[in-house]
Amino acid sequence: MAKPPPITIPTEPIGSIPRPLDLIERVAKGDSEDPNLAPLYEEAIRDTIERFEATGSPVVTDGEQRKYHNFATYCVHGLPNMAPDGFTIPFADGHTRRMSRLTRGPFRYRRYADSYLDVALRYAHVPVKQAVISPSALSLLYPAEGIRDYPREQFIDDLLSEHDSEIRRCLKKGAYKVQVDFTEGRLAVKIDPSGHLLNSFIDLNNLALSRFSPEERRRIGVHTCPGSDFDSTHSADVDYAELLPSLFELKAGNVYIALAGERDRRHVLKIIRKYLKPEQRVFVGVIAPIDPHIETPEEVRDRVLEASEYIPIEQLGTTDDCGFSPFSDDTSTSRDTAFAKIQARVRGTELAAKRLGAHQ
Ligand SMILES: [Zn+2]
Repeated sequence: MAKPPPITIPTEPIGSIPRPLDLIERVAKGDSEDPNLAPLYEEAIRDTIERFEATGSPVVTDGEQRKYHNFATYCVHGLPNMAPDGFTIPFADGHTRRMSRLTRGPFRYRRYADSYLDVALRYAHVPVKQAVISPSALSLLYPAEGIRDYPREQFIDDLLSEHDSEIRRCLKKGAYKVQVDFTEGRLAVKIDPSGHLLNSFIDLNNLALSRFSPEERRRIGVHTCPGSDFDSTHSADVDYAELLPSLFELKAGNVYIALAGERDRRHVLKIIRKYLKPEQRVFVGVIAPIDPHIETPEEVRDRVLEASEYIPIEQLGTTDDCGFSPFSDDTSTSRDTAFAKIQARVRGTELAAKRLGAHQ
């Protein structure tokens, strides 16, 4: 009898890596788009990709080194029709982050994420993945009281069109995957326990995903997490049972779920098993970026083996629970720690694949 081929389990990062401290300091002193900063950004991206590849990670990112000031509003930062007093995200430790507010139409992106991909692809030797922000997160830019002469329906049309363009540009340039960051999904349940806000977010994101073919959707994923900033979260107390059934309704081929930091992983795995669609692959988080402890490869291996009890191996992948610094000035995790954790993810995932292959 022919020997079965060895089992491989795909493993991918989420996106962000802490920025070099000198870059953070320089940006804090002035404009994040000062042309004099170009060499610092370039060096940060080059070094990030080199270190990423050294971990053995089969897929890398640019660490979002140029996403100033965060994962959500990079595309509109600096626009003249944005005010700083928008939606506030409250974190469990008491700190907050504030989004921008749209002051007038029309809504257009100032930059698309494929501009980051252009630079990353110059340095990378392995596939590069690109994260983009979800339409639902950007829908929070539109003020509750409305904008005169620019109705919400028009804003949503413009938003969907910009998001669609951004994903297509990334796919066309060869992004291995395009990941839609949907951290506000779990937060939506916290803000509105009736589930109404979450449903509206799911519907909006599905309007966008429906524009893509089944082949394109295999390269598109959605990331959910309880938030991650200064080692704190915004919605970890929301039971995944309130979120995941809706999340798997999203028309995306890949779902990236924070799991390592959950109190009861088996509870979550049971929900995933029940709602995961046959055409979807779930990447479970095996690394907790906000936990200072660096996971060992053996700890990761055991988390993967645990997940494999619930999820068919051909639909299983591993990831980090979140980016390591979704907000660019978050220095709570060092670059060294982030890369050590990523290396543990890669090695631990390999160990699990070997173990599962031996049991074939
Ligand atoms: Zn996240």
